[in-house]
Amino acid sequence: MVDSYLVLYCGTDPELTAEELRARCARLQHAMAAGYAAALRERTRVEQEAIARSALSARSAAEIALHATESRFRAVFDGAAIGIGIADLDGRLVEINDTMTRMFGGVEAHVRSRNVSEWVHPEDGPHVWRLYEELVRGEREQYRVEKPYYRGDGTVLWTNLTVSLLRDAQGHPQYQLALMEDITERRLLHLRLRYEATHDALTGLPNRTLFFERLEKALAPAGEDGRFGLCYLDLDGFKAINDSLGHSTGDRLLVEVADRLQACATGPGEMVARLGGDEFVALTTSTGGERDATALADRILAALATPVGVDGRELTVRGSLGVVEGPAGERTAAEVLRSADITMYRAKSAGGNRFELADPEADARAITRHGLTTALPTALERGEFFIEYQPLVHLDDGTVHGAEALVRWSHPQHGVLGPDRFIPLAEDTGLIVPLGRWVLQEAVRQARSWQLDDPTTGTPLRINVNLSPTQLHHPRLVADTVDVLERSGLAPGALCLEVTESALIGADEDLLKPLRQLAEMGVDIALDDFGTGYSNLANLRRLPVSVLKLDRSFTRGMQQHPVDPVDLKIVEGIVSLAHSLELAVTVEGVETAAQAERLRELGCDTAQGWYYARPGAPDRIHSLVLADAV
Ligand code: C2E
Ligand code: MG
Ligand code: MG
Repeated sequence: MVDSYLVLYCGTDPELTAEELRARCARLQHAMAAGYAAALRERTRVEQEAIARSALSARSAAEIALHATESRFRAVFDGAAIGIGIADLDGRLVEINDTMTRMFGGVEAHVRSRNVSEWVHPEDGPHVWRLYEELVRGEREQYRVEKPYYRGDGTVLWTNLTVSLLRDAQGHPQYQLALMEDITERRLLHLRLRYEATHDALTGLPNRTLFFERLEKALAPAGEDGRFGLCYLDLDGFKAINDSLGHSTGDRLLVEVADRLQACATGPGEMVARLGGDEFVALTTSTGGERDATALADRILAALATPVGVDGRELTVRGSLGVVEGPAGERTAAEVLRSADITMYRAKSAGGNRFELADPEADARAITRHGLTTALPTALERGEFFIEYQPLVHLDDGTVHGAEALVRWSHPQHGVLGPDRFIPLAEDTGLIVPLGRWVLQEAVRQARSWQLDDPTTGTPLRINVNLSPTQLHHPRLVADTVDVLERSGLAPGALCLEVTESALIGADEDLLKPLRQLAEMGVDIALDDFGTGYSNLANLRRLPVSVLKLDRSFTRGMQQHPVDPVDLKIVEGIVSLAHSLELAVTVEGVETAAQAERLRELGCDTAQGWYYARPGAPDRIHSLVLADAV
């Protein structure tokens, strides 16, 4: 009944895997067994109290020879479902009932032959015999313990034992009355359920629950200098094995890995657990320092080095390990595990088949990085991104030529984040494609609305949008751009896509083709951050670019007095080369009037920088344009 109820209950969530289901059932069984045991204990307690009352009145009955009471006591004594024994204060048994005899294996002589004080068992709690001594000395009236005994055949009987002191009419201690409830079965059930709830069904290793218990114990503030070492292992490429060779092969591989890991950590204070999937941990509390923990990691890597034979195949297993070692009492189990997890990922991104040692700085970076990465997709859905525009200005007359769209993230916790904080993450996760498309759409729409607001200006305001390398490789780049332009009504000539120099280093014709198509339509392509990569200047000719954006590092040199003549020569050289290739030159990072003047003299066409305006809201650009027109 209980089982079918559990199956029904556990089976309601279709998201659960068979393994999670088993674990959940085990937890549930555990909880139910605990509740059942508590109810049983309560019933026994009531019964025991009734017996103790009868025994007490029987004692006075013996003294005043009231046979009726004596016989009532007899009836309870003999018929009780629990074992009852009466012994004197020296531990000699005076009376035992049949139930007690049965509990001990059915041979009364075996029970009677021994003094109570001889019934010791190695698993006796340390307090058991102290309580006994206190009772027989008359210092306490009663105690209650869980106590094991050996039966006649050597098997173990577990009992819930209540011992009460019986006093004579003058109040002197006279007998001790023991009431015993056999809890052997319940205890076995409890142990089995606990085993199931704390062990992994596939490999038999301790599971996450037990591992956390041990880790918490290992991390508890220790009196002396307790330390712990943790190796967090994730197999490299396990998913591929599972997907290509099937789950049963994957399972057998995991079992073999579990066996090998267990053989690596057999010392005292060492344990291996499976956290789930292909993630394992080895914990040691017998470490003297980092060297011991890394030695454990080395043993694990060595254990994985030999291929595993499954179904006649030799499977190569590799793993990445994150190792955390440190003093107890400083961090919580969750913190340690997170650090190990982050460190394991470092090992993985360094190529796998290795271990890395945790480092607090790398952890902190990874934690924010991780947090931002996971928040990125919803941020786009929730409209947390916005664009600031920074004007591009004609150096000759100072009029606004256009604006560069620079994306920002208004993060609910961290405030406004600049693109350097999240564009690389968006690149790694591929989110840059939808994000970049949104920026393009929004910026183009904005540019079109500037034009519509001010149809009198001669040349329409241009808009620069940054493209990241992943976007360049995206098959829909051209189609999406055309679509965005058509929907907004902006002429292709008013759009400039900025591509970094480094993204085009070594670009082959396939990569350049979409850019070439866009350029043929009239879209400008700018080479952003020019001068920071290692471009071969001669190479410029074959790129479909029409603008060079000179990196800020060149303009920075021009803030100094006197300006380094070599810097001047370089910029002059680049400008003349660019012009000879019919490329316009934009300079970034212009912060002073002196810089602007110098760059104008050198022949640069347009400039961008704080001297003119910091990136800001779109209406600021509009007012700058209107100011030009006056
Ligand atoms: P970038 O395209 O080279 O953009 C110019 C950066 O220089 C901007 O930083 C801008 O705020 C900053 N800047 C402008 N004038 C000055 C100045 O006078 N002095 C100094 N010190 N800095 C100045 P921001 O906005 O932090 O952008 C950083 C980079 O993020 C951009 O460099 C660009 O590569 C990337 N980015 C920005 N928006 C996007 C986007 O929508 N998509 C992609 N893929 N990348 C973007
Ligand atoms: Mg740019
Ligand atoms: Mg730039």
